Amino acid sequence: MIPYGRQHIDAEDIAAVVDVLRSDWLTQGPAILRFEAAVAASCGARHAVAVCNATAALHLACLALEVGPGDIVWTSPNTFVATANCARYCGAEIDFVDIDPNTLNMSVEQLAIKFNRAKTQGRLPKVLIPVHFAGQPCDMAAIFELAGQYGCRIIEDASHAIGARCHGTAIGSCAYSDITVFSFHPVKIITTGEGGMALTNDDRLAQKISLLRSHGITRDPALMEGKSEGPWYYQQIALGYNYRMTDLQAALGTSQLQRLPAFIARRTALAQRYRERLAHQPITLPVQLHGYDSAWHLFVVRVASKRRRQVFDGMRAAGIGVNVHYIPVHLQPDYSRLGFAPGDFPKAEHYYREAITLPLHYNLAEEEQDFVVSTLKNLLQ
Ligand SMILES: *Cc1c(COP(=O)(O)O)cnc(C)c1O
Repeated sequence: MIPYGRQHIDAEDIAAVVDVLRSDWLTQGPAILRFEAAVAASCGARHAVAVCNATAALHLACLALEVGPGDIVWTSPNTFVATANCARYCGAEIDFVDIDPNTLNMSVEQLAIKFNRAKTQGRLPKVLIPVHFAGQPCDMAAIFELAGQYGCRIIEDASHAIGARCHGTAIGSCAYSDITVFSFHPVKIITTGEGGMALTNDDRLAQKISLLRSHGITRDPALMEGKSEGPWYYQQIALGYNYRMTDLQAALGTSQLQRLPAFIARRTALAQRYRERLAHQPITLPVQLHGYDSAWHLFVVRVASKRRRQVFDGMRAAGIGVNVHYIPVHLQPDYSRLGFAPGDFPKAEHYYREAITLPLHYNLAEEEQDFVVSTLKNLLQ
């Protein structure tokens, strides 16, 4: 089976992990600090806090922005469930903004309409979580401008988008958000096995996220209530979690990060090859907008919904690991129970019925890609 996504691990990655195995630290230690500094520098953000996965990063990002019961959070229905679940972990209410069928990201037009309505109803969201779907950057300048008008904070779910750029600025710079979250799951752009990171330019938010990642415990006398009782002393000053990443993972991440430009270049070249070879087929290709440099996490094509199943099954039968991203979150049974129903976000639902994700990853050989293309063309005839 040709997978839709796969990690790329080389000898240097392996050596980096083995070095940590021979060192004094296995859990959060010096390799974490190096990984955080390297990611922050590569994105141009002040702070980066590594955690055990992006789901944990989203949870801590919500907590740092003081999302709680009585608050409302909005995200895109075209995402992985974790983007919406993080608000619910905090006891907040979740709602969605339908997508732009062109970019497949949260529609800025729909967002403007929804903000306007929410204001008159007194139901404005506290936090908005745009998702850079497939690695394609959202129009963050426009989203930031709108959210600012309504006093709404922003967490970017950039799980697909490390290495993406918008008008030259790296996703992760937090130029238009409070916090940006990356995932280092093996199908994503770079991997640490499991792993995630929260980036921010705000010193207080960074301090809160790092406190909550480790039980809410501090050893910093400046943060304690009363005096330190000695060198052994620590205080729990908030209810936190064990969301730490290990040094083994961080060493892998730092090694992977060095190949980020090569990963993006290869994905971009393969995406371009797909575009050329599929240009005249009865399918919709991903958009390419001037000034928006996708990380190309996914290459999604759209096929007429009445033929999608046949094309999907035909590809799988040929040994091609096509997939579908995403089942709209609001259609999940656990979301129906909250009152969401089919028809609530028609653009995301319509897109979902047509979507097929083709294989795209660093290791994908051109011959493999040509086989994907010829198989798809045959099925479309
Ligand atoms: C993968 C992913 C997540 C969750 O990442 P984990 O690191 O697996 O927790 C969240 N949001 C989106 C959009 C994702 O693709």
